[in-house]
Formats: sequence, C-alpha cells, structure tokens
Amino acid sequence: MKKQQFISDCTVYEDEKEFAAHEAVDADLLLEAHKATLNSYAPYSKFHVGAAARLANGVIVRGNNIENAAYPSGLCAERVTLFAAQAQYPDVPVEALAITARSEITEVTEPVAPCGACRQVMVETEQRSGRPMRIICQGHTGPVFVFDGIETLMPFIFLTKFV
Ligand SMILES: [Zn+2]
Repeated sequence: MKKQQFISDCTVYEDEKEFAAHEAVDADLLLEAHKATLNSYAPYSKFHVGAAARLANGVIVRGNNIENAAYPSGLCAERVTLFAAQAQYPDVPVEALAITARSEITEVTEPVAPCGACRQVMVETEQRSGRPMRIICQGHTGPVFVFDGIETLMPFIFLTKFV
C-alpha cells in the first residue's frame, strides 16, 4: 500500500485586466460569459451563472443557468451552453468554455467552479472532439483561473469505450 498525490494545476490571473493582457481572445470569451449572466433565470438561488463557449469554427455560444420550481428540472449554465453548442454544431470541437456568476445576495469575488455533473459533461465534450477544452472561471470580479483541459478539474474521470 502507498499514498499517492495527484496534482492539478491552473493558471491564475489577478483579474480580468491581467488576463486580457495575456490572453485577449479568451478574455473576450469571458466577457461573453459575463453578458450571459444577464439572461439567467434564477429566482430561487439569486445566483446568476453565465457561460460562453468558443467553437473551432469561431462561433461563440452563450448560455446561462435556468432554474425551475421543481428544482432538478433546472440546468446549469455550463450544460445549457455545451448542449446548445453541440446541438447546433455537433461536429465542431469546443475550444474554450468561460464561466462566471453574479449574485443578488453577495459579491462573487472567487472563481465559480463547475459542479460535478457539468464536469462529467465536459469530459465527454472533450472526448467527442478528441482534444482538450480550455476552461476559464471567474466570479463577478476577482481572479481568473484557467484550466487547460477537464482532467485538471476532474481526475479519475468516468469514460466509456463505446463512444
Ligand atoms: Zn453544473
């Protein structure tokens, strides 16, 4: 028996300005995610999440969380975005996904991390396209975290050989 350590790494930018200075294209995508929070329907949590995906053909697809009184019927912004992208462009890889949020209750100053279910969908999105998808996370303000693929966010991923 032995203990083993697994390391996940990400690039951390102080804020969107530093991010834009280094990664202008992805900073534009993050801005699209911020815009997407304005379409969020979150009357229960008051937590408005926005996401934006940039596809390999240059198309940007935006999405946001949509809640429902029957709670499990709602869906996260990340899955709304990725499913919409793959429904419209099933054969086009997703290059990058930006995620952000704002709250009516508190200032969101830490990067918003996707939930486990969304991470699993990101795994299969990458699997379909055959290449890693960059994942960019920010709160309403504050630092920007950049992950160069889902495996850094979701080690020990569940994969099937049937795809
Ligand atoms: Zn989620």
